[in-house]
Amino acid sequence: MTNRRLTFRLYPTKVQKEKLFLARKLHQLLYNACVAHRRFEWRKTRRSVDYFTQQNALPGFRQQWPDYQQLNLTTLQATVKRVDLAYNAFLKGIRKRPKFKSIRNYSGWTYPDGRQGFKVQIECSQKYAVNCGWVTLNDLGVRLRMRGRFKYWGKPTTCTIVYRPHKDEWYASFSIKTSEPEPLFGSKSPLDYESIVAFDLGCETALTCYDGYGFDSISNPRFDREFAPKIKQASRQLKRKQRPIKGKQKASSRWKKANRKISKLKAKQSARRKDWQHKITTEIASCYDIVVTEKLNVRGMTRKAKKGKRKKQKAGLNRALLDVGFGALNQMALYKILAKGGLHITIDTKKVKPSQRCPRCGTVHKEWAKLSNRYHICDDCGFEIPRDQGSAMVMWNVAADRQPGLGTGLVNRRCSSSTDSTCKHTGSMRQLGQMKRSKSQSVDFVDGDLETPSVYTAG
Ligand SMILES: [Zn+2]
Repeated sequence: MTNRRLTFRLYPTKVQKEKLFLARKLHQLLYNACVAHRRFEWRKTRRSVDYFTQQNALPGFRQQWPDYQQLNLTTLQATVKRVDLAYNAFLKGIRKRPKFKSIRNYSGWTYPDGRQGFKVQIECSQKYAVNCGWVTLNDLGVRLRMRGRFKYWGKPTTCTIVYRPHKDEWYASFSIKTSEPEPLFGSKSPLDYESIVAFDLGCETALTCYDGYGFDSISNPRFDREFAPKIKQASRQLKRKQRPIKGKQKASSRWKKANRKISKLKAKQSARRKDWQHKITTEIASCYDIVVTEKLNVRGMTRKAKKGKRKKQKAGLNRALLDVGFGALNQMALYKILAKGGLHITIDTKKVKPSQRCPRCGTVHKEWAKLSNRYHICDDCGFEIPRDQGSAMVMWNVAADRQPGLGTGLVNRRCSSSTDSTCKHTGSMRQLGQMKRSKSQSVDFVDGDLETPSVYTAG
């Protein structure tokens, strides 16, 4: 079973819209109440509140505030869970401390259980395109028209309702369980297959692919070059308008208009980027069966330079890197290759060191690690290759078991699933649906159904 996310646009009527806005407002207030609760308890007793305390307080909360009685209890739990996830990320040091959210920044709510809370009806489903249908939200008593285009459909496990303020549009996003694709390999070893591609992600050339025969490079589209000046100009316009100051003045309609212009530009940029990513990854997935990539550390790569004259340079590099959207690109390539039954191999960067290793003789050159070193010449065997092509070649060699200097390759190595070690603290949003109310304070849920058996780690 694989899990995918499909998003439909909703077309609510005027009356339905009012109900949706009210539900969103109530969920936002609940979210803020949970954040306030955690902050208050921490200040008072220096103890952090956990998810179960807040979840078990929900029935009492609903009695106190009757507005919440109309809403489905599991959706309220899901909102509490959002706060928990935000705090978990904060406590791990990944994110900043969760803030109170204004209604403008509050997107929506989730129905975590596919068996209750919502019902989906797909109206015209041809073989490969699901076009439109209806979603019924039981607690609000609304039946909403929706539209979307997809190649497949399955059993929905969760439903998230999202509002995009700058577009004034509503969406329903489902996670779908689809049946597992027929494996391409069967019982054969993956290496019987010829079509392996390795790609290295870079700055100027976004992607350098190597498939054992030749190189292919895709340049960085640099959408930011087109959009950044426009956004800058629009923000300059915004500064001259009357901005909102809490308790003092309201935003002028010109300010609102200028603000809308900025968010439209940003949305356009990200839509263009997404489109580009989809085109690239679809092409890769349709041409090859095995995709080899490096383990990415986007956060580390795009960390800010602290001081010195390189600060500006690093900021520019970060912008270029983020503009490609490596994380999303990698993920898309992964799910597309898995959907067709292919294989995705992640190379352990620290062990293999693709950018420092000579593809022909396998010698590790420490001086190659410098990013400014664009062209590599091996002292030992005289092999010459541009940096990005070299590391793509090393990765391909490792996957095909042809890399000298590394001992055994993928065949002789034990393949281990890269997701088996994930053990989350209190589970994810999806598991919430399957979870019973629990009084216990220290329950750990092992992420059981996140298995992707065809993801391997090599190196
Ligand atoms: Zn060499």
